[in-house]
Amino acid sequence: MEKNKYYRSIPKVDVLLEEESIKKLVQEYGHGLVVKSIRQGLSQVRQVIEAAHTERQIEESIQSLVPEIKKILEQMHTCHFQPVINATGTILHTNLGRAPISQAHAKRLTEVLSGYTNLEYNLEEGKRGERYSHFEKLICQITGAEAAMAVNNNAAAVMLALSSLAKDREVIVSRGELVEIGGKFRIPQVIEASGCRLVEIGTTNKTHVEDYEEAITSETAVLLKVHKSNYRIVGFSHSVAVEELQEIKEKYHLPVVEDLGSGVLVNLEQFGLEHEPTVCESLQKGADVVTFSGDKLLGGPQAGILVGKKEYIDKMKKNPLTRAFRIDKCTAALLEMVLLEYQDKEKAMERIPIYQMLSRKKEELAGQAERLKELLAPLQAFEMKVTDSTSQMGGGSLPLEELENVGLFLKPVKLSGDALAKALRRTRVPVIVRQMEDGILLDMRTVMENQTETLAESLKEGLMQLAAAPEV
Ligand SMILES: *Cc1c(COP(=O)(O)O)cnc(C)c1O
Repeated sequence: MEKNKYYRSIPKVDVLLEEESIKKLVQEYGHGLVVKSIRQGLSQVRQVIEAAHTERQIEESIQSLVPEIKKILEQMHTCHFQPVINATGTILHTNLGRAPISQAHAKRLTEVLSGYTNLEYNLEEGKRGERYSHFEKLICQITGAEAAMAVNNNAAAVMLALSSLAKDREVIVSRGELVEIGGKFRIPQVIEASGCRLVEIGTTNKTHVEDYEEAITSETAVLLKVHKSNYRIVGFSHSVAVEELQEIKEKYHLPVVEDLGSGVLVNLEQFGLEHEPTVCESLQKGADVVTFSGDKLLGGPQAGILVGKKEYIDKMKKNPLTRAFRIDKCTAALLEMVLLEYQDKEKAMERIPIYQMLSRKKEELAGQAERLKELLAPLQAFEMKVTDSTSQMGGGSLPLEELENVGLFLKPVKLSGDALAKALRRTRVPVIVRQMEDGILLDMRTVMENQTETLAESLKEGLMQLAAAPEV
């Protein structure tokens, strides 16, 4: 085959730029990006010519050059960060962004974000205001704290608390609480990074009040309690509760800081779960500062919330780290919105997505699984079974609790479960599933009611992709 004539027939960039369809692309995407895409398209054509065995292949590639350029441009403008369907059943899936925000809050956020705001402006007095003012009173009302503030996440909140109260001094922690939360958050390193010295007391399984008292020196600045979050010590064990530290804390004038992790504000027993100490209880029992996440059991945006005695919170507000850890306007807006819901705890449970999911009854999940099964039946591509399943809350919360869920188990007729799971991650709305034996499980606990159809669409799309390129 005479390939040179084809190489010569490749259009020049300048010539392409004169074409009407390309001119339209220039208007939409700008000259520079279009030229870049044309070059990429032309280079693809050259590769086709080089590898082609038939003239038809080459002609097709030259003919589809303009659509190809358009496709390249569209891809350049596609957001890589995108919504996915969480079919794992894990409500606080850290890799999937933990707590989702409600549609009502997201809508309100759009309004707030697309213009200026009173983020740090006091409308009453017409002068500079405080970024925490929008939610500080609310948090105090809900938790009974004297003062509150928020930073980017709970890891930052712990660092800020320690740095503000114990820099260059000693922090006493039980060995049973020197935990690693994940994502490199290890209590000993966090204490060090905050500029404090760790004093370990007790043993892995047992720590007593006397251990705290014996470790106190003139260098001691904070008694730190850490929620064990993602693990438990069971059996021959003892840990010291915050209220047991009352006496020595007063005797030595030391603040007790508690890293509560999830920071739940409601009683979880209502969902049939074990009791998880609430922020309010921790404060009542005598913690002087409590830190917790915004996007775990609070169900809000990523944030680290600090509540407690005013004298300590004031110190944190003045710490230079506060500037480095400060929340942005999205977080400030969403925190206020979520906290407004907590003014009525029952309503909050109805309106905050993680609690909507947690509240869903098994019959409801089963109904949804059946509906999905019906939507998928015409595909005749799977063996399907509606089945009971369990999952964890996630986000390091409630490690011993299993949520009782219902899911749809799919065993593809012609493919491996692995191939299907992979294909589902590449669809327009990707689906994250649990792989089980030779199939996949779609757990309904975390699939919102209005996502059922989209989920079915993604499954169709995944199958089509696999049919077109079965080797993937
Ligand atoms: C999750 C957790 C953290 C980290 O919180 P982030 O908001 O993810 O930074 C710290 N401490 C405890 C006890 C936790 O459970």
